[in-house]
Amino acid sequence: MQPDGELCNCGNHGCLEVYAFARAIRREAIRLAGQGAPGLSRLLKEQLEATASDFYALAVAGDADAQSIFDRAGRAIGICIASLINTFNPALVVIAGGVSDAWLLLSPKIFEELQHRSYIYRLTQPGSSFQQHTIVQKATLGADAGLTGAALYPFVYGNRS
Ligand SMILES: [Zn+2]
Repeated sequence: MQPDGELCNCGNHGCLEVYAFARAIRREAIRLAGQGAPGLSRLLKEQLEATASDFYALAVAGDADAQSIFDRAGRAIGICIASLINTFNPALVVIAGGVSDAWLLLSPKIFEELQHRSYIYRLTQPGSSFQQHTIVQKATLGADAGLTGAALYPFVYGNRS
């Protein structure tokens, strides 16, 4: 995402994970609170261990600083998906994992970036005249998608050890 961005747990700099995952949302909230964001400061004083879902609730309640955290994450996800769509032209992109619980706040910026950065998406989005459409949506199982997939794997594919 960012060649000289923040250090990621993988050792690389500027990975999507640094901008769009639960820990990144908490880190950004702490950074903004340090710059004086009143709602985030209050929340972090009241709940020292506040999580992404606490910041999500604050954003949904109308706190502009909390909303900006999810705007930033949505933009990062949108930029990443735009590159994938431009490269692979998939029929379907599914957003899963914990961050997908924030789809309501993330999706406007995701689609804004897709419109802005991906001519393939603009040509193939639902409602376009192209026959093959590119659909981007939240996973039906949300944060439980990975766990459910892992649990079902042996029943679908059997024992292949
Ligand atoms: Zn990384």
